[in-house]
Amino acid sequence: MKASILDAVKKGPVLMDGAIGTQVQAMGLPPGEPPERWNTERPDSIRKIHRDYLMAGARVLTTNSFGGHPIRLNRAGIQDSYLVNFQAAALTCISPDVWVAGSVGPCGEMIKPLGKVEPDEVFEGFKLQVRALLDGGADIILIETMTALEEALLAVEAARSLTSAPVLASMTFSATPRGFRTVMGVDIDSAVESILKAGADGVGSNCGNGIEDFIPIVRRMRGLTDKPILAEANAGMPEMVNGKTVYRQTPETMSRHIPALLEAGADLIGGCCGTTPAHIRKMKEILDIEEGNLSI
Ligand SMILES: [Zn+2]
Repeated sequence: MKASILDAVKKGPVLMDGAIGTQVQAMGLPPGEPPERWNTERPDSIRKIHRDYLMAGARVLTTNSFGGHPIRLNRAGIQDSYLVNFQAAALTCISPDVWVAGSVGPCGEMIKPLGKVEPDEVFEGFKLQVRALLDGGADIILIETMTALEEALLAVEAARSLTSAPVLASMTFSATPRGFRTVMGVDIDSAVESILKAGADGVGSNCGNGIEDFIPIVRRMRGLTDKPILAEANAGMPEMVNGKTVYRQTPETMSRHIPALLEAGADLIGGCCGTTPAHIRKMKEILDIEEGNLSI
C-alpha cells in the first residue's frame, strides 16, 4: 500500500504538479468557461494533463475541481456537482505511485454578514464536494487559494468531518505594508494557528505571488509549526497582454529559488497559475540535485 503523504514528507520534499487552468486554456477552453466542465465533456484532455505532470516527475497530482464547490458550479450553469467532482478525482487516478489531491477552492461568494450566503450552505457544499472527491479516489484533500479565514475553516471542518485522510489547507498571501496578508486581511500567524486548530494536517500558501515571496512566507510558517508546509507559487506575477493573462517566469528562473524554499522549510512544492509540466520537470531536476547533496 502507498505510504501516507504525511510520512513521505518526513523523508524528504515531495513534488506536486503545476496549474491545470493554464493547460486547459492552452487546449482551447474558452475564457470564462469553468475548467471543471471538461471532467465530463473532455475527460481525455484532463487525463492528458495529469499524465504530462506525472511524466514531468510530479508525485502529487491535483484534481481538476478547484471551482467544484456546488455554489460556484451552479453559478456557471453546472448542476451535477457530485458527478463533476467524482469524475475529477477518478480522472486523476492514473498511477498507483502518485497521491491524488482533491482540490477544493473557494465557493466564489462572500459569506454572511459580508455577503449573502449562509455559512451552513457553504459548509454543506464543501461536504458534498469532499465526499465526491473521496469517492472518486482522492487520497488527500487540498484546500487551496483561500483568502477568507472563515471559509478556509469551514472547508477544513467539512473535510475533517468526513475523513481521516490528510487534509492540507493553503491560503493566498500578498506583501502589504503590514506584512503578508490575504486580500481579506488574514495574516500568516492567524491562518496557520486557526487552520491547524480546525484539524488540518498541514498548511501552506499558493497563488498570488512569484516564488521569491514564498520564501519568507514559508519561513514564517515553519517558525509556527512542525507540520507539513506546502508552497505553490505562480510563474511570476500575472501581466495583461492584449486581454490575456500571461505569466513570464520560466522553468529556469523559477527553479533557481527551490533550494531557498527548501531551506525555509517547505515540504510539498509545486506550481500554481502559469506553471506548466516544463516548470515541474525543472523543479524535479533541482530536487534531485538537492537530494543527492543531502545524501552525500
Ligand atoms: Zn494560482
